[in-house]
Amino acid sequence: MSELVRIRVPTHAQPPPTAPADASIPSAASTDPDAPAVYLETFGCQMNEADTALIAGQLTGAGYRRVDDPAAADVILVNTCAIREKAEDRVWGRTSQLLRHRAAKPDLVIGITGCMAEHLREKVAARAPYIRVVAGPDSYRQIAAMVGRARAGERVVDVTLDKAEVYEGLDGIPDDDGVSGQVTIQRGCDKFCSFCVVPFTRGRERAVPPREVLRAVRSLVARGYGEVMLLGQTVNSYRHEDVDFAALLRAVAEVDGVRRIRFTSPYPKDVSDALVRAMAELPQVMPQLHLPLQAGSDAVLERMRRGYTRAEFLDIVTRVRTAIPDISLSTDLMVGFCGETDEDHAQTIEMMRTIRFDQAYMFRYSDRGITHAARRLVDDVPDAVKGARLQEVIALQEEHTRAAHAAHVGRRVEVLVGGLARRNDRLVGRSEHNYNVLLPLGCGRAGELIPAVVRESTGHSLVAEPMSPPAAAAAP
Ligand code: SF4
Repeated sequence: MSELVRIRVPTHAQPPPTAPADASIPSAASTDPDAPAVYLETFGCQMNEADTALIAGQLTGAGYRRVDDPAAADVILVNTCAIREKAEDRVWGRTSQLLRHRAAKPDLVIGITGCMAEHLREKVAARAPYIRVVAGPDSYRQIAAMVGRARAGERVVDVTLDKAEVYEGLDGIPDDDGVSGQVTIQRGCDKFCSFCVVPFTRGRERAVPPREVLRAVRSLVARGYGEVMLLGQTVNSYRHEDVDFAALLRAVAEVDGVRRIRFTSPYPKDVSDALVRAMAELPQVMPQLHLPLQAGSDAVLERMRRGYTRAEFLDIVTRVRTAIPDISLSTDLMVGFCGETDEDHAQTIEMMRTIRFDQAYMFRYSDRGITHAARRLVDDVPDAVKGARLQEVIALQEEHTRAAHAAHVGRRVEVLVGGLARRNDRLVGRSEHNYNVLLPLGCGRAGELIPAVVRESTGHSLVAEPMSPPAAAAAP
């Protein structure tokens, strides 16, 4: 999974609808003005967003109140990403920026959690001695106690990886639109792609038991969420005893009230026939699949240890498109990996032209200290060449994304409304294919499914008209 150059425009709709009360869910905000205030900030992927929700749930349960202004906080935690060097640099920059709040509050505790905490455990003390809490991805059950000790003056570090920790029974408090909710079904990764730090920072693959996944899904539905996003580093490699991912998908689809199911991020080699069948048969599973290609040349794929060839990847695409002809495909692409020649790069371009992904996350390779590639391969593609290749890939993907959007003009879509668009002048939601769709104000509320016809494509969004006339003066 990657937090990369995004062609897709993220949906950040607001405000969330009012959630029905559920006694099993921790209260989202303490109203006690004397309760210690915590500010949480997230870098990286959706797994990290889900982990921030988990941390928020733990701290709220321990009496903290969450604030959205770091200046008002007694505790600042930055949930970090280590997937690329740039992501790490941004975290260093951000934590030193946040340090200025200590001028007004000398007792302010600043901490980091997540992948970077795990990856750089020793370096944090030397590089940023002001960081008082360092918590790895398997330490969140203890996060409130760790923060408490830091507030009492200790420097607290826990980056132990726990092969069994799946946070069973813990509900998070997400900072989302209240419409699309995330459920982590798997933690860690066993694939060990040669460029990736995740198996080192998040540990070995563990499946959340199906009963816990279903409990979390029911909890989301009870809070009014219409869409469930199942999360895992290689989500479709999921297996718990005799339950594989296809079986889990079928079980989730049976939960009363689940209208839409998505999942990310799949591992191409584990796209089984059973999964493709389940996707084709279950109306709740949206016609959208993220298939991270990474590179189009067999030589590079082998050095990346991705476990498939270009022919095998094309076969997966054919199987999926045969079963679900209208499916929207997105991908991850990495340029400039160790030893990548002009010919290798041309093969990536050729794969893009053959498959024509609807959307892509694109980035250049950066050397991550502890990986196989960093230790055994030579990062020999000059920066300028990486940059030029990335620009070429981005330009081509822009063309394909625009064409995919334009092909939707005139089509009927069903939009799950998330809330107000950024400029507050329209509603924004997601189509079945996960396109960002803008609708006129007043045609529905957050969480409603609105049938609409696409009238226009702006390149990154679709503009649609509802099929029935807008209700008079309905609030978003
Ligand atoms: S599948 Fe590969 S790229 Fe994805 S998280 Fe696992 S090691 Fe990293």
